[in-house]
Amino acid sequence: MLTVENIETFYGPSQALFGVSLAVEAGEVVTLLGRNGMGKTTTISSIMGIVRPHAGAIALDGVPIMGWPSHKVARAGLGLVPEGRQIFPNLSVRENLVATAANRSASDSPWSLERVFDLFPALAERRTNMGNQLSGGEQQMLAVARALMTNPRLLILDEATEGLAPLIRAEIWRVLEHLKAAGQSILVIDKNVEALTRIADRHYVIEKGRIVWSGSSGELKGNPDIQHRYLGV
Ligand code: ATP
Repeated sequence: MLTVENIETFYGPSQALFGVSLAVEAGEVVTLLGRNGMGKTTTISSIMGIVRPHAGAIALDGVPIMGWPSHKVARAGLGLVPEGRQIFPNLSVRENLVATAANRSASDSPWSLERVFDLFPALAERRTNMGNQLSGGEQQMLAVARALMTNPRLLILDEATEGLAPLIRAEIWRVLEHLKAAGQSILVIDKNVEALTRIADRHYVIEKGRIVWSGSSGELKGNPDIQHRYLGV
Protein backbone atom coordinates (compact mmCIF):
# COMPACT_ATOMS: atom_id res chain seq x y z
CA MET A 1 0.00 0.00 0.00
CA LEU A 2 2.66 2.53 1.08
CA THR A 3 6.17 2.24 -0.33
CA VAL A 4 9.06 4.49 0.63
CA GLU A 5 12.20 3.97 -1.43
CA ASN A 6 15.60 5.37 -0.67
CA ILE A 7 14.49 8.79 0.51
CA GLU A 8 17.06 11.39 1.47
CA THR A 9 15.87 14.37 3.48
CA PHE A 10 17.78 17.47 4.54
CA TYR A 11 17.18 20.35 6.96
CA GLY A 12 19.11 23.12 5.22
CA PRO A 13 22.62 21.76 4.72
CA SER A 14 22.28 18.96 7.29
CA GLN A 15 21.17 15.56 6.04
CA ALA A 16 18.73 13.70 8.31
CA LEU A 17 17.76 10.70 6.14
CA PHE A 18 20.29 8.72 4.07
CA GLY A 19 18.23 6.46 1.83
CA VAL A 20 15.34 5.24 4.00
CA SER A 21 13.14 2.50 2.52
CA LEU A 22 10.09 0.87 4.07
CA ALA A 23 6.72 -0.57 3.07
CA VAL A 24 3.34 -1.14 4.65
CA GLU A 25 0.93 -3.66 3.11
CA ALA A 26 -2.85 -3.38 3.44
CA GLY A 27 -3.98 -4.61 6.87
CA GLU A 28 -0.47 -4.62 8.32
CA VAL A 29 0.70 -2.97 11.52
CA VAL A 30 4.30 -1.85 11.03
CA THR A 31 6.56 0.07 13.41
CA LEU A 32 9.48 2.41 12.95
CA LEU A 33 11.71 2.12 16.01
CA GLY A 34 14.83 3.98 17.06
CA ARG A 35 16.31 6.21 19.70
CA ASN A 36 15.72 9.99 19.90
CA GLY A 37 16.98 12.04 16.99
CA MET A 38 17.51 9.08 14.64
CA GLY A 39 15.06 10.28 11.97
CA LYS A 40 11.68 8.75 12.84
CA THR A 41 9.69 11.98 12.78
CA THR A 42 11.61 13.15 9.70
CA THR A 43 10.58 9.94 7.91
CA ILE A 44 6.92 10.57 8.81
CA SER A 45 7.20 14.26 7.85
CA SER A 46 8.67 13.19 4.50
CA ILE A 47 5.79 10.77 3.89
CA MET A 48 3.19 13.37 4.89
CA GLY A 49 4.62 16.13 2.68
CA ILE A 50 5.64 18.28 5.65
CA VAL A 51 9.26 18.22 4.47
CA ARG A 52 10.26 17.37 0.93
CA PRO A 53 12.94 14.72 0.35
CA HIS A 54 15.70 15.59 -2.09
CA ALA A 55 15.82 12.09 -3.52
CA GLY A 56 13.93 8.80 -3.51
CA ALA A 57 10.30 7.88 -4.13
CA ILE A 58 7.12 7.55 -2.07
CA ALA A 59 4.01 5.89 -3.47
CA LEU A 60 0.54 5.03 -2.23
CA ASP A 61 -0.90 2.09 -4.17
CA GLY A 62 1.62 2.77 -6.89
CA VAL A 63 0.70 6.46 -7.20
CA PRO A 64 3.74 8.70 -6.59
CA ILE A 65 2.89 11.12 -3.76
CA MET A 66 6.34 12.54 -2.96
CA GLY A 67 6.31 16.32 -3.29
CA TRP A 68 2.55 16.59 -2.80
CA PRO A 69 1.42 19.20 -0.23
CA SER A 70 0.31 17.71 3.12
CA HIS A 71 -3.38 18.38 2.61
CA LYS A 72 -3.33 16.40 -0.63
CA VAL A 73 -1.42 13.52 1.01
CA ALA A 74 -3.99 13.52 3.83
CA ARG A 75 -6.84 13.50 1.32
CA ALA A 76 -5.26 10.51 -0.42
CA GLY A 77 -5.85 8.60 2.83
CA LEU A 78 -2.87 9.02 5.15
CA GLY A 79 -4.15 9.96 8.63
CA LEU A 80 -1.49 11.31 11.00
CA VAL A 81 -1.67 11.42 14.78
CA PRO A 82 1.18 13.88 15.22
CA GLU A 83 3.75 13.98 17.98
CA GLY A 84 2.41 16.36 20.63
CA ARG A 85 -1.25 15.65 19.65
CA GLN A 86 -2.01 19.11 18.20
CA ILE A 87 -5.74 18.97 18.84
CA PHE A 88 -7.75 22.20 18.48
CA PRO A 89 -7.72 23.73 22.02
CA ASN A 90 -10.65 26.09 21.46
CA LEU A 91 -13.00 23.54 19.92
CA SER A 92 -15.06 21.06 21.89
CA VAL A 93 -14.34 17.33 21.72
CA ARG A 94 -17.25 16.91 19.33
CA GLU A 95 -16.11 19.83 17.16
CA ASN A 96 -12.54 18.47 17.06
CA LEU A 97 -13.93 15.20 15.75
CA VAL A 98 -16.19 16.61 13.04
CA ALA A 99 -13.88 19.46 11.91
CA THR A 100 -11.78 17.25 9.64
CA ALA A 101 -14.11 14.25 9.26
CA ALA A 102 -14.24 12.59 5.84
CA ASN A 103 -14.54 9.14 4.27
CA ARG A 104 -11.13 8.99 2.62
CA SER A 105 -11.02 5.22 2.31
CA ALA A 106 -14.54 5.18 0.81
CA SER A 107 -15.45 2.72 3.56
CA ASP A 108 -18.87 1.01 3.59
CA SER A 109 -18.99 1.47 7.35
CA PRO A 110 -17.16 4.75 8.01
CA TRP A 111 -16.27 5.97 11.48
CA SER A 112 -18.97 8.14 13.00
CA LEU A 113 -19.19 10.10 16.25
CA GLU A 114 -21.17 7.23 17.73
CA ARG A 115 -18.56 4.64 16.80
CA VAL A 116 -15.57 6.62 18.09
CA PHE A 117 -17.44 7.35 21.33
CA ASP A 118 -18.04 3.59 21.68
CA LEU A 119 -14.31 3.00 21.17
CA PHE A 120 -13.33 5.80 23.60
CA PRO A 121 -16.05 6.02 26.29
CA ALA A 122 -13.97 8.63 28.16
CA LEU A 123 -14.38 11.01 25.20
CA ALA A 124 -18.12 10.48 25.09
CA GLU A 125 -18.36 11.79 28.65
CA ARG A 126 -16.28 14.83 27.70
CA ARG A 127 -17.93 15.58 24.37
CA THR A 128 -18.85 19.18 25.24
CA ASN A 129 -15.52 20.01 26.93
CA MET A 130 -13.00 22.17 25.10
CA GLY A 131 -9.79 20.54 23.87
CA ASN A 132 -7.72 22.48 26.39
CA GLN A 133 -9.86 21.20 29.28
CA LEU A 134 -8.82 17.59 28.67
CA SER A 135 -6.08 15.64 30.42
CA GLY A 136 -3.02 14.62 28.39
CA GLY A 137 -4.40 11.10 28.01
CA GLU A 138 -7.81 12.34 26.88
CA GLN A 139 -6.12 14.68 24.38
CA GLN A 140 -4.18 11.73 22.98
CA MET A 141 -7.36 9.68 22.63
CA LEU A 142 -8.98 12.65 20.91
CA ALA A 143 -6.03 12.90 18.50
CA VAL A 144 -6.42 9.20 17.58
CA ALA A 145 -10.20 9.51 17.33
CA ARG A 146 -9.91 12.61 15.15
CA ALA A 147 -7.61 10.77 12.75
CA LEU A 148 -10.05 7.82 12.63
CA MET A 149 -12.87 10.20 11.71
CA THR A 150 -11.01 10.85 8.43
CA ASN A 151 -11.33 7.08 7.71
CA PRO A 152 -7.66 6.89 6.72
CA ARG A 153 -6.38 4.08 4.53
CA LEU A 154 -3.21 4.20 6.61
CA LEU A 155 -3.20 5.51 10.18
CA ILE A 156 0.19 6.88 11.28
CA LEU A 157 0.93 7.42 14.98
CA ASP A 158 4.01 9.41 15.99
CA GLU A 159 4.90 8.78 19.65
CA ALA A 160 1.25 8.37 20.65
CA THR A 161 1.98 7.01 24.12
CA GLU A 162 4.82 9.39 25.02
CA GLY A 163 4.46 10.75 28.53
CA LEU A 164 1.20 8.94 29.24
CA ALA A 165 0.37 7.08 32.45
CA PRO A 166 0.53 3.26 32.13
CA LEU A 167 -3.26 2.85 32.27
CA ILE A 168 -3.82 5.35 29.45
CA ARG A 169 -1.02 3.76 27.45
CA ALA A 170 -2.72 0.38 27.85
CA GLU A 171 -5.91 1.99 26.57
CA ILE A 172 -4.11 3.16 23.41
CA TRP A 173 -2.70 -0.37 22.87
CA ARG A 174 -6.19 -1.82 23.32
CA VAL A 175 -7.48 0.52 20.63
CA LEU A 176 -4.65 -0.38 18.24
CA GLU A 177 -5.35 -4.09 18.72
CA HIS A 178 -9.02 -3.46 18.03
CA LEU A 179 -8.18 -1.48 14.86
CA LYS A 180 -5.79 -4.15 13.65
CA ALA A 181 -8.43 -6.84 14.12
CA ALA A 182 -10.75 -4.69 12.01
CA GLY A 183 -8.14 -4.65 9.20
CA GLN A 184 -6.84 -1.08 9.64
CA SER A 185 -3.32 -0.52 8.22
CA ILE A 186 -1.16 1.27 10.80
CA LEU A 187 2.38 2.67 10.92
CA VAL A 188 3.49 3.27 14.52
CA ILE A 189 6.42 5.14 15.97
CA ASP A 190 6.89 4.38 19.64
CA LYS A 191 9.51 3.32 22.13
CA ASN A 192 7.45 0.60 23.75
CA VAL A 193 9.03 -2.45 22.16
CA GLU A 194 7.33 -4.96 24.43
CA ALA A 195 3.79 -3.83 23.60
CA LEU A 196 4.60 -3.38 19.93
CA THR A 197 6.03 -6.87 19.44
CA ARG A 198 2.67 -8.07 20.74
CA ILE A 199 0.58 -5.93 18.38
CA ALA A 200 2.62 -5.28 15.22
CA ASP A 201 3.45 -7.60 12.32
CA ARG A 202 6.80 -6.12 11.27
CA HIS A 203 9.36 -3.60 12.46
CA TYR A 204 11.99 -1.29 11.01
CA VAL A 205 14.84 0.04 13.14
CA ILE A 206 16.35 3.40 12.19
CA GLU A 207 19.76 4.62 13.31
CA LYS A 208 21.27 7.94 12.24
CA GLY A 209 18.94 8.29 9.24
CA ARG A 210 19.40 4.72 7.94
CA ILE A 211 17.27 1.58 8.31
CA VAL A 212 19.66 -0.83 10.02
CA TRP A 213 17.34 -3.76 10.72
CA SER A 214 13.89 -5.01 9.75
CA GLY A 215 12.00 -8.14 10.66
CA SER A 216 8.94 -9.72 12.23
CA SER A 217 7.83 -9.41 15.86
CA GLY A 218 9.13 -12.92 16.54
CA GLU A 219 12.54 -12.02 15.09
CA LEU A 220 12.73 -8.81 17.13
CA LYS A 221 11.67 -10.55 20.35
CA GLY A 222 14.32 -13.20 19.77
CA ASN A 223 17.06 -10.65 19.11
CA PRO A 224 18.09 -8.98 22.38
CA ASP A 225 21.26 -7.74 20.68
CA ILE A 226 19.31 -5.52 18.21
CA GLN A 227 17.03 -4.32 21.02
CA HIS A 228 20.00 -3.42 23.16
CA ARG A 229 22.19 -1.92 20.43
CA TYR A 230 19.62 0.27 18.68
CA LEU A 231 16.74 0.70 21.10
CA GLY A 232 18.50 0.81 24.45
CA VAL A 233 16.23 -1.92 25.84
P1 ATP B 1 12.58 12.08 18.42
O1 ATP B 1 12.00 10.82 18.92
O2 ATP B 1 13.48 12.76 19.41
O3 ATP B 1 11.58 13.01 17.77
P2 ATP B 1 13.37 11.22 15.80
O4 ATP B 1 13.95 9.87 15.59
O5 ATP B 1 11.97 11.46 15.42
O6 ATP B 1 13.62 11.65 17.29
P3 ATP B 1 13.99 13.43 14.05
O7 ATP B 1 13.15 14.40 14.80
O8 ATP B 1 13.48 12.92 12.77
O9 ATP B 1 14.33 12.19 14.99
O10 ATP B 1 15.44 14.06 13.85
C1 ATP B 1 16.43 13.50 12.99
C2 ATP B 1 17.58 14.48 12.85
O11 ATP B 1 17.16 15.66 12.18
C3 ATP B 1 18.16 14.94 14.19
O12 ATP B 1 19.55 15.07 14.04
C4 ATP B 1 17.52 16.29 14.40
O13 ATP B 1 18.36 17.12 15.15
C5 ATP B 1 17.38 16.81 12.99
N1 ATP B 1 16.21 17.68 12.86
C6 ATP B 1 14.91 17.35 13.12
N2 ATP B 1 14.08 18.38 12.87
C7 ATP B 1 14.85 19.39 12.43
C8 ATP B 1 14.59 20.73 11.99
N3 ATP B 1 13.35 21.23 11.93
N4 ATP B 1 15.67 21.48 11.62
C9 ATP B 1 16.92 20.99 11.65
N5 ATP B 1 17.23 19.74 12.05
C10 ATP B 1 16.22 18.95 12.42
